[in-house]
Amino acid sequence: MLHRSSVATPPRAIRGEGIYIFDENGKSYLDACGGAAVSCLGHSDADVRAAMHAQIDQIAYAHSGFFSSDAMEELADDLIAHAPDGMDKVYFVSGGSEATEAALKMARQYYLEIGQPDRKYVIARRQSYHGNTLGALSVGGNMWRRQQFEPLLITATHIAPVYQYRDQRDGETEAEYGLRVANELETAILELGAQNVAAFVAEPVVGATSGAVAPVPGYFKRVREICDQYGVLLILDEVMCGMGRTGTLHAIEQEGISGDIQTIAKGLGAGYQPIGAVLVSKKINDAIANGSGFFQHGHTYQGHATACAAALATQRAIRERDLLSNVVKQGENLADGLRAKLGQHPFVGDIRGRGLFRGVELVANREIKDPFDPNMNINAKIKKAAFARGLMAYPMGGTIDGVRGDHVLFAPAFIVTEDDVAKIVDLFAAALDDVFVAEGLA
Ligand code: PMP
Repeated sequence: MLHRSSVATPPRAIRGEGIYIFDENGKSYLDACGGAAVSCLGHSDADVRAAMHAQIDQIAYAHSGFFSSDAMEELADDLIAHAPDGMDKVYFVSGGSEATEAALKMARQYYLEIGQPDRKYVIARRQSYHGNTLGALSVGGNMWRRQQFEPLLITATHIAPVYQYRDQRDGETEAEYGLRVANELETAILELGAQNVAAFVAEPVVGATSGAVAPVPGYFKRVREICDQYGVLLILDEVMCGMGRTGTLHAIEQEGISGDIQTIAKGLGAGYQPIGAVLVSKKINDAIANGSGFFQHGHTYQGHATACAAALATQRAIRERDLLSNVVKQGENLADGLRAKLGQHPFVGDIRGRGLFRGVELVANREIKDPFDPNMNINAKIKKAAFARGLMAYPMGGTIDGVRGDHVLFAPAFIVTEDDVAKIVDLFAAALDDVFVAEGLA
């Protein structure tokens, strides 16, 4: 949204407390999506606020070309101590899109350092989102987001995502399905010529295009195998699904593999400051360190001390308060609640996800999984109806067979209680009724 545009202005967020945001009229909104899966500690966390104040009292920011900081060094050590196997270094940025850009450039530079300059192509998946800057948009597969900017994008090849609800064939086991879609990567690599391919980019659990779509067991193992066989780097985008959202600190832990490069952002700083990071494996770091000696990239605010202090306090809070156990427990509650209340709803096609990362897909016809006409803007109407009832739920239009589909994402803070979860489910169900009654469908 453009500030001060002619578009109706949203309410002003005046205050936040726990999972609630209050506007200028004192109306409260239950934040069931953490904005865009960001506010994992809830709003106004005392420890994070104290850490930020303490940092600002010392120094808010010093350019990373001149200085490091205690906050940045401690955060880097903390992240590496808890990173997936093989991760050795951290490169800080200010958000998710910047992390994707850095990851893509790092992959390219790696191949230059090791004398394979032909490796330039990137393979990604349809129905993926990796950010809105041009490089990130190029690898993202969401046609609706790309359409207008197509002439500005770099070439990327897109293969099938894992999308069991729609794509698993009758008679095909989960394992067979996982292998089939993973093998599309091999086909794409061979078509492009392995010697020309730099990287494969994927979200371990897909977020912003289709609402918490998890992989099937074995998919990422096969992807890792293919990448290793053809010398292609695996870039994992955990900007949305990472930092505890799915019940483990990193979503990829549940797949039993590691990437070569991994991006993280939203839950890293829990929204208290804009911050993202790229986790870099030893292989990549060594090649760059022993080659030209530095990663040829940089942004003014990278490693911002106050952002690092906020992120460090966030990560410590998640561990010290054992919040991942609550993510698992309340995640199951949320899934159970949604299934109990909406499992038979005529317009709910699928309820899915992991941890406190849950998606609901709306369909016009459950039997044939037919999406609503995109002109009906069902997901936007659900957002509006829920918001009117004081519930923040994150709507999105993915791309199903070239048509936008309607999905709603739930990603509440890791501190939610059973009562909060019950409230989320009730308010959401009521908002669906509001929309379908208004549409003359209920
Ligand atoms: N990657 C993924 C998986 C995301 O979900 C997002 C944001 N929704 C991004 C990248 C881009 O992050 P940002 O909006 O912070 O630039």
